[in-house]
Amino acid sequence: MNALTSGLRLRIDGSSQSDDVLFEERLSPTFLDLRPDDELSAASDIVMSGRAYRASEWVMIEGRVTVSMRLPCAVCNEMCEFTIDLMPWKQSIPASSVKDGMVDISEALREAILIEVPFFKKCGGQTCHNANEISQYLTTDVPAEDGEDRNQPFLSLL
Ligand SMILES: [Zn+2]
Repeated sequence: MNALTSGLRLRIDGSSQSDDVLFEERLSPTFLDLRPDDELSAASDIVMSGRAYRASEWVMIEGRVTVSMRLPCAVCNEMCEFTIDLMPWKQSIPASSVKDGMVDISEALREAILIEVPFFKKCGGQTCHNANEISQYLTTDVPAEDGEDRNQPFLSLL
């Protein structure tokens, strides 16, 4: 920890418009506030580095954020680990939120990471390692027992 940064708070006051505040931090992922019963969990510390500077009414942040996350595969449900690498990570925070010369970036960082989490994660990246195995158990052509009712299930309501 140095004088300019302290975890999720960056010291931004006192610097003139052109002064950069450089930061490099390794953060515990607890501030992501993932619930224990959530399927998503963090598998590593969050590593962030970059610079922050003031631009009139904004605090601008530019840098890089990396973290490993865990999520069950959308197909086979096997837990898989993947890396989120935000490069560049760009954020602007209203200068009005600077308190005692420090700006809290936890919420901005949290959002930036969580927005990168894929909705459907497959254990093999683009595909699922176990897709072939699983397709054996799935029957795709279910015979329609009553064609008409099946295609227009609300017909009887008319
Ligand atoms: Zn899978």
